[in-house]
Amino acid sequence: MKLADRQELFSRLAELNPKPTTELEYSTPFELLVAVTLSAQATDVGVNKATRRLFPVANTPQAILALGEEGLKSYISTIGLYNAKAANVVAACRILVEKHGGEVPRDRESLEALPGVGRKTANVVLNTAFGEPTIAVDTHIFRVANRTGLAPGKTVRAVEDKLMKAVPAQYRLDAHHWLILHGRYVCKARKPDCPNCVIRDLCRYRDKTPGPAGR
Ligand code: SF4
Repeated sequence: MKLADRQELFSRLAELNPKPTTELEYSTPFELLVAVTLSAQATDVGVNKATRRLFPVANTPQAILALGEEGLKSYISTIGLYNAKAANVVAACRILVEKHGGEVPRDRESLEALPGVGRKTANVVLNTAFGEPTIAVDTHIFRVANRTGLAPGKTVRAVEDKLMKAVPAQYRLDAHHWLILHGRYVCKARKPDCPNCVIRDLCRYRDKTPGPAGR
């Protein structure tokens, strides 16, 4: 996609939603780290329901360690894979306390060294908690990047690398949220809402869904 079209694409998404952010509820980098870790293969709504009960009781690594793995499970048992997630969160809290003074580190290497934290989670934390212009490619972004022709790629990492080059610099910080929200609510997996899509004319997807007039 040529630069002018990429500029136009993001200026339209930006106009629709000037201050995009995550739908996960959090108030500190640590809360965000926990919420993102819990959100793998779960919905943000489901995670928010659990963390609304958990965070008032325990929202620091020390407090979660005091709660213990079993105690933590009692708050997150409605979330898929909660056994493994509880073990990872507790193990991550131990490292945060022992190696990082109880704070969430601001560098990728330290974040990815935490149990349960992969590149995507590290990117979300760096972007949303610390304001770094990273792009965490999830299933929605992967789909939108490929369908539109913005940053086509066969793997998540290939798409991430292409997006970092394709997204104009002034949009890079928020691109992550614009693309996720666009994929979640408009460019949906089974039936993209092409007739109501603000970037329809820029998008190169061959199988766009037709509007009422069949166009
Ligand atoms: S036109 Fe359709 S396929 Fe293209 S981005 Fe919009 S919703 Fe997705």
